[in-house]
Amino acid sequence: HVKERGRSDFRFYQRQMNIGLLSRMKIDHAMRQALEHNQFRLHYQPLVNLDNDRLFGVEALLRWNDKDLGEVSPARFIPIAEETGVIVAIGNWVMHSAIAQAALWHQQGHKLSISVNVSALQFQQSDFVENIAQALHEAALPPDRIELELTESILIRDVEETLKRLQALAELGVKMSIDDFGTGYSSLSYLKRFPISKLKIDRSFIMNLPGDESDIAIVTAIISLAHALKLRVIAEGVENAEQRDFLASLNCDELQGFLYSPALSASEFEQAYLPLAAKAVRRV
Ligand code: C2E
Ligand code: MG
Ligand code: MG
Ligand code: MG
Repeated sequence: HVKERGRSDFRFYQRQMNIGLLSRMKIDHAMRQALEHNQFRLHYQPLVNLDNDRLFGVEALLRWNDKDLGEVSPARFIPIAEETGVIVAIGNWVMHSAIAQAALWHQQGHKLSISVNVSALQFQQSDFVENIAQALHEAALPPDRIELELTESILIRDVEETLKRLQALAELGVKMSIDDFGTGYSSLSYLKRFPISKLKIDRSFIMNLPGDESDIAIVTAIISLAHALKLRVIAEGVENAEQRDFLASLNCDELQGFLYSPALSASEFEQAYLPLAAKAVRRV
């Protein structure tokens, strides 16, 4: 047994190495193949209201299991997809899949929002807003069921053009939040200019709560800044009850993290959480 395990550990290690050693070209090719053969999947991680412990939405997270590379983390392949540009096609696939899934749940009578990660290059496409409008229309999905997670890097590029685009999205009725807030290069001035409705505090600030003094200071400041600007605020990466209780004491609005659930396939999510969409979520 030990020998067998050693062997599979080695194979796992080899697989992990592979993506590091493979050229960008090869990974780019593998990603294009995966798109063509429909090998990407979306998983869904519950988002919970802190005050009543209710599930109100999910974040759609991309998953890719390649036959040679194994399960590849989006933290590894998304940056490469951004460099080579294939993120635009992947992002379109994600948007259409998320909207289709949201429409299905909507038709079944569940009140649930789906948050979709958007990358900078995708946001810059001239038909970005039009594509979303059309996909929402075709799926007959109320636009406020979709929330776009934008990173600070998107917002700092061409401020005037970004503002126009965000206003068009807001008019359409989709919600927008700033993902990984606090980790990017950004000026706070955009918070008052851009029609966003939520800040997502990056996991790196949540991880060491409530023990780390600096993280306490940063998280406290982000939450009061958000509330002063009438924005909602969500903490990502909440893994234990101490973190949850601490965030509750700071009046954080929403939570996401392994304390509740990791990202699940659509069918796992439907079994475990969808029946609870209108009820309190069980905590571990
Ligand atoms: P993100 O948007 O900040 O997503 C949250 C990440 O934190 C997810 O990692 C999620 O699985 C993880 N997470 C959530 N709760 C916990 C927790 O309690 N503990 C820990 N350790 N981790 C937690 P994931 O799925 O590996 O995604 C990594 C990043 O890849 C995402 O970070 C996002 O930047 C990017 N990404 C994922 N899917 C997409 C996509 O469809 N499009 C784009 N453009 N980027 C995506
Ligand atoms: Mg996100
Ligand atoms: Mg995030
Ligand atoms: Mg993050």
